[in-house]
Amino acid sequence: MQTAKLVIVVHYHEIWLKGGNRRFFLSKLHMALKRALEGLPVERILRPGDRMLIEFGEGASAEEAVARIERVFGVAFYAVARVVPREGAEDMESLGRAAWDEVRGEKFSSFAVRAKRSDKSFPHRSLDIEVSVGKYLADQLRAERRDVRVKLNDPELTCRIEIPPGPSLLVYARKIPGAGGLPPNTAGRMTCLLSGGFDSAVAAHKMMKRGAHLSFVHFWGGGARPGESSVHVARELVRRLVPWQFSAKLYLVPFEPVQREIVSSAPEKFRILLYRRMMLRISERIARSNRALGLVTGDSLAQVASQTLHNMAAVGAATRMPLYRPLVGDDKIEIMDAAQKIGTHDISAEPFHDCCPIFLPRNPALHASIEELDEAEKNLDVEALIRQAIETMAIERYRYGGGQVEKVESFKSATA
Ligand code: ATP
Ligand code: MG
Repeated sequence: MQTAKLVIVVHYHEIWLKGGNRRFFLSKLHMALKRALEGLPVERILRPGDRMLIEFGEGASAEEAVARIERVFGVAFYAVARVVPREGAEDMESLGRAAWDEVRGEKFSSFAVRAKRSDKSFPHRSLDIEVSVGKYLADQLRAERRDVRVKLNDPELTCRIEIPPGPSLLVYARKIPGAGGLPPNTAGRMTCLLSGGFDSAVAAHKMMKRGAHLSFVHFWGGGARPGESSVHVARELVRRLVPWQFSAKLYLVPFEPVQREIVSSAPEKFRILLYRRMMLRISERIARSNRALGLVTGDSLAQVASQTLHNMAAVGAATRMPLYRPLVGDDKIEIMDAAQKIGTHDISAEPFHDCCPIFLPRNPALHASIEELDEAEKNLDVEALIRQAIETMAIERYRYGGGQVEKVESFKSATA
């Protein structure tokens, strides 16, 4: 058998392994890695204990593989391993040399060597490997007059050695931070109200990170000139988010008819809040058709007039479905930083025609109550407006595979 060309070692968080769900989460992580690496020559993914080893065949690009794994939730950290042929490594000299090549360029003041021998036919025990390679490294460091100690408890650098079954031994020390969170699509479905602004895209990402699989609903208004519409921003955001969960639906709902009804039949100061209530109701309908278990918005406490505690309570009362606001306690600066990190910032920063500011009230209510909004809506045919929205919306599906996002199909639907 040939020695593998490229091996990446993936470590996951231990926390989510507690309890009886271990196999479920691990198989989801395994699946996510496979899908993320689609199109690259993956030969096999081994699961020796508390990590995964991905072996690639001829022609695999380490850079491409590293970039793909960056967006797999559930990964704590990962590393490109040095591959040492097993043949001839039994005296451990070549392991020591590989370990030295791996760490010599790194800055650290303490280190430890950790060996895992999942192939028990290797003639040395893990502890012996650790001692032998540790001594080799200590000698080299001393020869270079570097002031570095061995520290078994919480060292700055850990040089890891894997002895998996097969013709290759692995050595790695340079950790690449993973995306963290829980493996994708482990928590159930949710529906996210995606505006095109900074907040809701970040809110979506936070819920995906906890394992939720999201569908997206975007409400677009009239009055936009060509090129100004918010729809292309929503589409771009979904394209940016979809790699984290591999597939997603985007519902594009024309909202101007709803807004016109509200403008003509309700007090001006409640308009924005009534728009939000209708958005929630329509999204709830879509969510139920998808068997989603919650709605997600980008609300952040007191950021704008509609996000006071009074107004969030009065708006939220329009839906019976649990409403999640993952950014409620975040500062705008934290949200913008997160948007930069996940790559949605520049998309949301594009100018676009947000549907809400049209017909904007001069003095929006800051402390509306549920009763006031109920009263303000009494002349609206809420059910008819929901039905009309569902009948006129468009649905798009996106899929991520082979490192690319593609739109799979697009259709108008009368059924959600
Ligand atoms: P964002 O940055 O996400 O737009 P925001 O701070 O600007 O949020 P608002 O515009 O008041 O706040 O919207 C609050 C939330 O309501 C949004 O985060 C989003 O979840 C939802 N929302 C608002 N407008 C739309 C829209 N046109 N389509 C879908 N959801 C929307
Ligand atoms: Mg907004």
